Amino acid sequence: MTDEDAHGVRLRPEIVAVPAYKQGRPAPADGFKLSSNENPYPPLPSVVEAVAATLTELNRYPNAGGADLRERLAERHGVDVAQVHLGSGSVALLAQLISAAAGQGDEVVYSWRSFEAYPGLVTVAGATSVQVPNRPDGGHDLPAMAAAITDRTRVVIVCTPNNPTGPVVTAAEFEAFMAKVPRDLLVLLDEAYYEFVTDDASVDGIPLLSHYPNLVVLRTFSKAYGLAALRIGYAVGPAAVLNAARSAAIPLSVTDASRVAALASIDAEDELMERVARIAMRRDKLRNALIEQGWNVPEANGNFVWLDTGAETAAANDAFFDAGLTVRAFPPEGIRISVGEQESVEKLLEVTADIVRNLPNGHPGKRLG
Ligand SMILES: *Cc1c(COP(=O)(O)O)cnc(C)c1O
Repeated sequence: MTDEDAHGVRLRPEIVAVPAYKQGRPAPADGFKLSSNENPYPPLPSVVEAVAATLTELNRYPNAGGADLRERLAERHGVDVAQVHLGSGSVALLAQLISAAAGQGDEVVYSWRSFEAYPGLVTVAGATSVQVPNRPDGGHDLPAMAAAITDRTRVVIVCTPNNPTGPVVTAAEFEAFMAKVPRDLLVLLDEAYYEFVTDDASVDGIPLLSHYPNLVVLRTFSKAYGLAALRIGYAVGPAAVLNAARSAAIPLSVTDASRVAALASIDAEDELMERVARIAMRRDKLRNALIEQGWNVPEANGNFVWLDTGAETAAANDAFFDAGLTVRAFPPEGIRISVGEQESVEKLLEVTADIVRNLPNGHPGKRLG
């Protein structure tokens, strides 16, 4: 539908201007979908079984309060149950928390490029995005983010490891940053890839909650736990802030299927974390191989790597697609590639070898010498 088709219906102009969310292209037959940071492993039988048991009650509204899952999460994180809030994916939690704190005339500060959903969520809340450029190594420039805070700032989002570039925020960086942030300004620490992190210097948000009354940590079952289709994530933070998020939520949006799948996944945690460790090892090997090929690859701590293809992004994206690999291109910046099936890696490295060979010397994606 074009603007004209709306027949003059008055819509918010900033909403009409939002580009439609582009989901990763589906993989071609016998290809690999490496565009959405999904977990390549299918769900465990115990998880499928738990979900199947909910199907006979589809006529009933869900137990959306989710006390059993909240209690389980509170226990494992050593917090009160009032400090845990469930959402239909952590994107839903981001939307609630941003809307609860920021509206017309308010500013939301975050690093850029970062998670694609942030700009749209801020716009829908009626607030204004303040994007602080990433450091050249793809990490957050936290001193610059602190300097971007004004009287109008209501939320700061910190994404670690940063999607799509990969580096973590370190504990030291985060604590120096929090020391400069007013205590009444909401800070959202988005730890969507927490379980994949292998850098010991990384910040770990939940133990810091007792130090900072303005901090909320976001986690998800979509990535490490492989439940992307079911949409379930959680926030841990001050009860009063989470109550405000609940007030901004669409009621009953956490389904029974997602809740029991999350519980079954916690029961099977050892097995799932073994998979995560395998993916993290595959990631490190992939990154090393790319560096060996001549790529300049940022530190990778999620389940993805970033290639700084710059002006060559669109052409490189086509080369991957022609080889049966769907990746996520952000022209004219770079390409994010999820760490998927082991069989995808060899194919991938053939394509990247070709691309880097043809990058001009002095290209930011290419190592010197
Ligand atoms: C994938 C992702 C999320 C959330 O995903 P959900 O499926 O909504 O839980 C949140 N933040 C970042 C940075 C992500 O990459």
